[in-house]
Amino acid sequence: MNDLDIAKSVPPHPIRLITQKLGLPEEKIEPYGKFKAKLDLELIQEEKVQQSKLILVTAITPTPAGEGKTTVTIGLSDALNDLGKNSIAVIREPSLGPVFGLKGGAAGGGWSQVIPMEDINLHFTGDFHAIEKSNNLLAALLDNAIQSKVKNLQIDARSILWKRAMDMNDRSLRNIVCGLGGKSGGVPRETGFQITAASEVMAILCMSKDLEDLKNRFAKIYLGDRLDGSPVFASDLNAQGAMATLMKEAIKPNIVQTLGHHPALIHGGPFANIAQGTNSILATKMGMSLGEYAVTEAGFGSDLGAEKFFNIKCREAGISPKATVLVATIRALKYHGGKPLTDLETEDLEALEKGFPNLEHHLESLKKFEIPVVVAINVFKSDTEAEKKLLIDFCKKLNIPVALSEGWERGGSGCLDLAKLVIQEAENCNRSFKPTYELEDSVVDKIKKVSQKVYGASEIILSPKAQNQLKKIERLGYQKLPICIAKTQKSISDQEKLIGRPQGFQITIREFEFAAGAGFLIPMAGEILRMPGLPAKPAAESMDISGSGEISGLF
Ligand code: ADP
Ligand code: MG
Repeated sequence: MNDLDIAKSVPPHPIRLITQKLGLPEEKIEPYGKFKAKLDLELIQEEKVQQSKLILVTAITPTPAGEGKTTVTIGLSDALNDLGKNSIAVIREPSLGPVFGLKGGAAGGGWSQVIPMEDINLHFTGDFHAIEKSNNLLAALLDNAIQSKVKNLQIDARSILWKRAMDMNDRSLRNIVCGLGGKSGGVPRETGFQITAASEVMAILCMSKDLEDLKNRFAKIYLGDRLDGSPVFASDLNAQGAMATLMKEAIKPNIVQTLGHHPALIHGGPFANIAQGTNSILATKMGMSLGEYAVTEAGFGSDLGAEKFFNIKCREAGISPKATVLVATIRALKYHGGKPLTDLETEDLEALEKGFPNLEHHLESLKKFEIPVVVAINVFKSDTEAEKKLLIDFCKKLNIPVALSEGWERGGSGCLDLAKLVIQEAENCNRSFKPTYELEDSVVDKIKKVSQKVYGASEIILSPKAQNQLKKIERLGYQKLPICIAKTQKSISDQEKLIGRPQGFQITIREFEFAAGAGFLIPMAGEILRMPGLPAKPAAESMDISGSGEISGLF
């Protein structure tokens, strides 16, 4: 059975049953059909947030298929519930780009999924549409202001950074010229589209505390410059009120259920390279308000997702996980040990062992946050007994708690050992995480600290352009913001070919981007595609819906 067949084989319970089990009052639930609902922000309670145990799921350096963080998150949360702990999985909303492209949806896999999987992967409760509209409203206001003689903001059309957004992999829109068609058609200028998950509106939604905060963050969006070089913000266009109005429903976290009929929150889905890569602060706090445990994930490997989770999200939200689960797969470790992607299913103890340094690096850098780490081996059918034993022995030698995670094949019951380890670590953890840098550090020091402590780089290089921009950062007053380094997810370094555990490399910052509304600086250590393309054979070609509405081909 594929993921969709499995998901469809379990009829979901009415969402009211799930919210009743959590003891939530009717008037705080806004059902979207029978199996989905939005939750009132008033359900978030700070005292409960402080008592709850947050568990972060992260991973080693992934292969393109993903190593199973979402799958482990859901399986682990179900297992915690099976062990009598009230646990809630808190994950990101899938983007349509990967659904129709190569990677598939983001609702977990096998017997560790959230349902109804088709709805969650397609449109869901419309949050992505609202984000896209809010983003595009700002773009329309901006082009209108360039056109308008009345407003006369003297905007330099060549300096505009703000792009339009659409939730689709569509490379032909990556670079466009808008404003064609003569005087009444606007001012022609070069611009482009980005996928909705890459939009700053998405990042802002996920950093916001409430509607007021959302609006204030929208006001701070940095759009480009005037002809005299002074900055133009969304507030100069009076855009924030209407943008926030479009987001009045999207700001509320969504509740669904896992295949084990336990609650799961799904909200927001920013990129994990140019943005923070984790669901909204509101959803995480909602999960912590409603659950004794809240299990959440951060995108890509720990160098990207976990670092940003701690230094950007947790710092801003005033929360700290009680344990970190590092997902490792035998497949990916063999890949890091030099085996080609097309040949990961045959036993190869030598390649596996050669791949261990990648795991070791992630363990070492996670330990610096001073939160206990547990390794979850996400088991694939092709893993052999000898391979599993070798990996378990390696973790034991390093004194790291380790468990097989068989949630993909068996749901929560396949993650009980993992859940027991997590409970043990989380219940004994009384610390808060240690950040990698202080906000008071200089921008260069922040980059240095992340590059050296988290990536293991020997030094950093700032291009002349980036060095020049440091002055602008001071001028705009952005020097105290946290940093969100954008780099490849395929390597711990900034060069995607350096798999395994690269040593002695430099991190090169080409330039800075500013996410003033989201509240971070983006040092760019590589080219990041914000509008991906479809592969030669897109997943879309295999999808279908029958006359009676049966969907097939989603994964
Ligand atoms: P991530 O969140 O790390 O990107 P996902 O949990 O979304 O990874 O998993 C990526 C893909 O791999 C999904 O299609 C999922 O069904 C599949 N997958 C995950 N774990 C397993 C496993 N143990 N066996 C087989 N397929 C798996
Ligand atoms: Mg995921």
